Amino acid sequence: MKISNIINNSDKTHFSFELLPPLKGSDGSKLYNTIEQLLEFDPKYINLTTHRDEYEFRQRPDGLLEKKIVRKRPGTVAIAASIQHKYGIPVVPHILCGGFTRSETEHVLIDLHFLGIENVLALRGDGLKSEPAFKPEPDGNAHASELVEQIVGLRNGKYLDTELKNKAPLDFCIGVAGYPEKHFEAPNLETDLEHLKMKVDAGANYIVTQMFFDNQKYYQFVDKCRAAGITVPIIPGIKPIAVQNQLTVLPKIFSIDLPDDLAKALAACKNNDEAKKVGTEWAIYQAKDLVKNGAPSLHVYTYGLTDNVKEIMKAVF
Ligand code: FAD
Repeated sequence: MKISNIINNSDKTHFSFELLPPLKGSDGSKLYNTIEQLLEFDPKYINLTTHRDEYEFRQRPDGLLEKKIVRKRPGTVAIAASIQHKYGIPVVPHILCGGFTRSETEHVLIDLHFLGIENVLALRGDGLKSEPAFKPEPDGNAHASELVEQIVGLRNGKYLDTELKNKAPLDFCIGVAGYPEKHFEAPNLETDLEHLKMKVDAGANYIVTQMFFDNQKYYQFVDKCRAAGITVPIIPGIKPIAVQNQLTVLPKIFSIDLPDDLAKALAACKNNDEAKKVGTEWAIYQAKDLVKNGAPSLHVYTYGLTDNVKEIMKAVF
């Protein structure tokens, strides 16, 4: 089932959540346990992140440095298919520009199609930690809008090999990312919205937002998108704060603000248990308001935690 059909055929807010593939060396049991803990809230779909290769420099016995390629969380394609078939819930694997040539992207999409996956979230990805800025692969997509164009091309049977005889269309429903507080590289929100519109004009079916902690920012973002002519559903992303250092870590990593009330409450916590309680209460407050105001779906960034997500969902739905 396509996410756009799930959203467009219902006027109530759905629950969906995002998971990370297991770290290399772990089996899938923790991931499956996380899903099973949340099944009672009837998730309509599950997002699965993708993590590109990183380079690490390791010291050799002779003292010289050796550049090693490390992929800490492989397996998105296989795990996405496994979850979808095991639980009968549509899975939305994230597809990145970064680290992939267009040809590799096409192969990933062919594999996903064979495995029965109908939805993807198309993203640029971040630059490598070892690079000053994002650098696409030679013959890779440089922006998410180009990735969307490639995926839409396959909807119309447009493969990279123009001499291919059989050109079965691969019809994916495409989500893209939106930033209520703007993407950290964008000079301003208006420019960022122009780039968001390029993704939608290229054929994206819906938008999922970066996490935010002030709902007004989401509502204002939706208004600005509508004024800019973006009409697709805009799904809010919420992140229940679970540890105290997220007070400073989240603004740094995601270029977002924490409202003063939340920041003060977290700063006053004596330990992570107290911080988790504050984060859970804040997420309940946010989620109830988003449901009341007709958000199409709640995209919950779980980071593999379930006790707080369960508490939030029990309070909200
Ligand atoms: P783009 O839409 O390409 O935008 C990136 C920047 O380039 C923006 O500043 C934009 O304004 C600008 N830009 C866009 N088009 C143009 C253009 N044509 N010319 C000039 N500038 C342009 N990262 C991962 O590595 N794995 C994941 O699984 C993952 N999941 C995510 C899920 C969600 C819901 C969100 C919100 C983010 C996720 N990310 C993930 C992070 C994401 O990859 C980063 O935020 C990345 O820096 C930008 O990705 P994008 O798709 O928004 O890029």
